Amino acid sequence: MYKSDFPLLTNHPELVYLDSAATTQKPNVVIEAIKHFYENENANVHRGIYKLSENATDLYEQSRNTIASFINSKPENIIFTSGVTEGMNMIAWGLGEEFIETNSDDMLLMTSMEHHSNLVPWQQRGIRSDVKLGYVKVTKDYRLNLKHLHEVVKAQNVKILALTHMSNTLGSISDLKQIISFMRKNSPQTLIVVDGAQAIAHLPVDVVDLDVDFYAFSGHKIFGPTGIGILYGKSYLLDRLYPIHTGGGMIRTVEKAESTWAPLPDKLEAGTPNIAGAIGLGKAIEYTKHIGIQKIFDYEQELIEYFITKANSTDRFNLFGPNNTKDRGAVFSFEVDGIHAHDLAQLLDEKNIAVRAGHHCTQILMKEVLQVPATVRASFSIYNDKHDIDMLFEGIDYAKTVFSS
Ligand code: PMP
Repeated sequence: MYKSDFPLLTNHPELVYLDSAATTQKPNVVIEAIKHFYENENANVHRGIYKLSENATDLYEQSRNTIASFINSKPENIIFTSGVTEGMNMIAWGLGEEFIETNSDDMLLMTSMEHHSNLVPWQQRGIRSDVKLGYVKVTKDYRLNLKHLHEVVKAQNVKILALTHMSNTLGSISDLKQIISFMRKNSPQTLIVVDGAQAIAHLPVDVVDLDVDFYAFSGHKIFGPTGIGILYGKSYLLDRLYPIHTGGGMIRTVEKAESTWAPLPDKLEAGTPNIAGAIGLGKAIEYTKHIGIQKIFDYEQELIEYFITKANSTDRFNLFGPNNTKDRGAVFSFEVDGIHAHDLAQLLDEKNIAVRAGHHCTQILMKEVLQVPATVRASFSIYNDKHDIDMLFEGIDYAKTVFSS
C-alpha cells in the first residue's frame, strides 16, 4: 500500500524496509514541498516586511495550524522543536522550583520501557535537583505494570510521570486515557509527560481528550524530515516554562540587566527555526490526514496479526513484546535462538531486508526485563505489506541455514 508515494522505495525496488520505528521514508509531497520552498519561497520568518518573508512566515504558521488540528490542539500550544529529545530537555530543564523542588521528597517517575530521550533528561534533572527517581515496572507480558504504578503513586510524592505512548522496543501501547484519569484522581500534583515518538504515525492522538500536560513527537517518524519535531503543552505550563534556549526571536524587550519574553509560541522558539523542516512536516501531516490515521491503524493491525501468526509458527523465534494484536503497534523485537542479533541483521541485509539490531536506546528495559544485550527489531509502516513479512521470515530461515552449516 502507498509504496509508490515514496521515491526511495521505488528507486530501490529490491529493498524491504523494516526500520520505520527509527525513521520513516518520505513521500514525494514532502520532498517536493521542501524543494519548492528553497527554490521559490526561501526567506527568514517573523522578521522581514517584504512579501517573500511574509509568505515564508505564513507557510510556517499554516504548518503549525495543520499540526495543531491533527492532535486537536490550539496553534499557540504547538512548539516547533528539533524532535522528542529536544522537547523532553526543554521540559526537564525548563520546569521551575514550583514543579520540582530541590532537595525535597519529590519523585520524578518514568517507566522501565522509556527510550533514553524520555529518561536521561529526567534522570539528570533529578540528580541536579536532588530528588527521587522512580521507574514503573513492565509486566511479564510486556505491558506497563499498572499495579506497580498505583503502588508508587500511593507511596510517593510523584511530580512528573514521563511515559511513552507506544514502546519503540516492545510495540506495547499504553492506555493513556485510563492512566491519566487515574493520576488526576490519585495524584493531582503530577504532570503527565508523554513521548509520542512512536504512537504519532500509527494511532489517533487527541491531546484534549487525553488531558495530557505535555506530548512530544518527532517529524521524521511520521513521514516528515529529520531535525523537526513538536512539543505540545497546556497553556499555563508553557507560560511558566523557563526557556532553556534564549536569544533572538524569543524576546519582547532586552535591557542590560534583564529581558522579557515574547508571547507563546515564540518564547520557546529561539533563533531562526527549521523553516523548511516545519513546512515539510506540515505536508507530512496533511499526507497522513489525507490517508486517515484510523485507516493506517486498521491496516497495520492486519500486518500485526499476520506477523504474530508467522512468529508463533517459527522455530527458535522469541518475540519480546505482546503476543497478540491488542494494544500494540507494528514494532517487533525478537531473537532467534543460536544467532546473535547483529549477525542476524547482517544476514538479513544480504537479502536487502533492513532491520535494526541493538538495545534500541532502551538499556534499562534490556537489562531489567528482556535480559539480553540486543534484539533484532522489525518495524512497519503504511508502505509495507504481507509480502515484506514473508520476506523477513524467509530471511530468518536463510540465516538459520547459514548458522547450521
Ligand atoms: N522516543 C522514542 C519512543 C523513540 O522511538 C525515539 C526515536 N528512536 C525518540 C524518543 C527520540 O526521537 P528523536 O531522536 O527524533 O529525538
